[in-house]
Amino acid sequence: MTLSNAAAEILSKLGVDEAAYTGGTLASYSPVTGEQTGALPEATIDSANAAIATAKQAFKAWRVTPGPQRGEMVRLFGEELRAAKQDLGRLVSIEAGKIPSEGLGEVQEMIDICDFAVGLSRQLYGLTIATERPGHRMMEQWHPLGVVGVISAFNFPVAVWSWNTALALVCGNSVVWKPSEKSPLTALACDAILKRAIARFGDAPEGLAQVLIGGADVGNALVESPDVALVSATGSTRMGRIVAPKVAARFGRCILELGGNNGGIVCPSADLDMTLRAVAFGAMGTAGQRCTTQRRLFVHADVYDDLVPGLIKAYESVSVGNPLETDSLVGPLIDKAAFDNMEKALADAKTAGGTVHGGGRVDTGAENAYYARPAIVEMPSQCGPMLEETFAPILYIVKYTDFEEAIEAHNAVAAGLSSSIFTTDLRESELFLSAAGSDCGIANVNIGTSGAEIGGAFGGEKETGGGRESGSDAWKGYMRRATNTINYSRELPLAQGVKFDI
Ligand code: NAD
Repeated sequence: MTLSNAAAEILSKLGVDEAAYTGGTLASYSPVTGEQTGALPEATIDSANAAIATAKQAFKAWRVTPGPQRGEMVRLFGEELRAAKQDLGRLVSIEAGKIPSEGLGEVQEMIDICDFAVGLSRQLYGLTIATERPGHRMMEQWHPLGVVGVISAFNFPVAVWSWNTALALVCGNSVVWKPSEKSPLTALACDAILKRAIARFGDAPEGLAQVLIGGADVGNALVESPDVALVSATGSTRMGRIVAPKVAARFGRCILELGGNNGGIVCPSADLDMTLRAVAFGAMGTAGQRCTTQRRLFVHADVYDDLVPGLIKAYESVSVGNPLETDSLVGPLIDKAAFDNMEKALADAKTAGGTVHGGGRVDTGAENAYYARPAIVEMPSQCGPMLEETFAPILYIVKYTDFEEAIEAHNAVAAGLSSSIFTTDLRESELFLSAAGSDCGIANVNIGTSGAEIGGAFGGEKETGGGRESGSDAWKGYMRRATNTINYSRELPLAQGVKFDI
């Protein structure tokens, strides 16, 4: 069966109308074989604005639906996702090229965030605050915000939307989603699954959750609309640089989840066997196409020769190939441009004095599919392409001798998403996690930089954009806070002892 037929079979099973992915102008492809899987009709700027208007009306009804009822709808969404897990996971593998366990893992992440959001729907707490005035009470409430516009990247085609949507819905908002133009079929599938939950719930307003198929221009409609209260945008720092000032200019709110250039430090006391396995997954998993992929490693001189040759060997032996037909651990890059970027970065690294191990195209017999052998580059110092995110499986390694200098080098890049340290020395790990340590939104000990759980807040600093999604109190980004002071006395004392007797 061709992948196009396999995708159509899944979409039909999940209830997606064939007209949604045939006869249109947006071609979708599977990076697994390079074959075309669909031709989707695209939204126009007018239809995008109409969708936003409907979402605004839906918000007005949804914001007064009690939180626990909103949670019930997300609970049903989680049930539908459980039922659809195998199909949706396979579609993620077809469209993003992920190995089966990662495709399924991404759907599991959707289920996890639904569970989290259901509990949250009864815990949207504000504080009661001591007031300086007698006979007064002060408190804060968290209210729904409005229409949430979600713009997402190809590499987590379903999970990122669900992180945003599950929280946005329990927080009382409506959602309009512009998925990546490189992964539109999974978006149609997600939309159908959520619509089934909404139908079972029964009493949800029309247009509560919508999807807009298209490119940057359609995303821009969300960015520029004054009716979109929050733009949650996941993608490259290049995209964030365009989106953020536009949203700021209209005083809208942004959650930015942008690029990463994630580093790690391997200390002399590290468990090297565990380090090797953690780095191998962090750096080669998802063919290096995670925002949290391990891209830089600082290895202490005392253990360099015990770790690096073993890592190079692991890179040489890792299986690269069609993730749907073989048990390969490394699947394809998303497209030719991604492969070309990898080749260019490796050439630049050589010019900068690096020694390249691996890289190059792996032939799977599919002319339009781009599989690359993961590469390790031993660098004389942190310079050249090591300072930037290349969205491909390249791991740069630099030798260090002074721990504090290694932390400084670790932080000396523009992105600030994820980081890790490998050590069994308490002083080193605590320093790395301290205010003087890693400057990233995520800092790990003895695990790699990728593979976050939904319970923690997810996001990063600096050019990663500063946003937080998923767990902890990230829900507050999807609500507005109101501070209320209530006078239940017969007097009118003014704050700070101000007198105003008339
Ligand atoms: P991309 O920036 O090319 O596209 C992301 C999304 O933004 C797409 O939906 C695209 O259509 C839209 N877009 C692009 N320009 C726009 C504009 N001017 N206005 C409105 N929308 C616009 O990114 P990509 O190649 O799909 O994904 C890879 C990048 O995403 C990497 O840099 C990766 O690190 C990052 N990423 C970050 C996170 C995170 O949580 N920090 C998660 C996943 C991916």
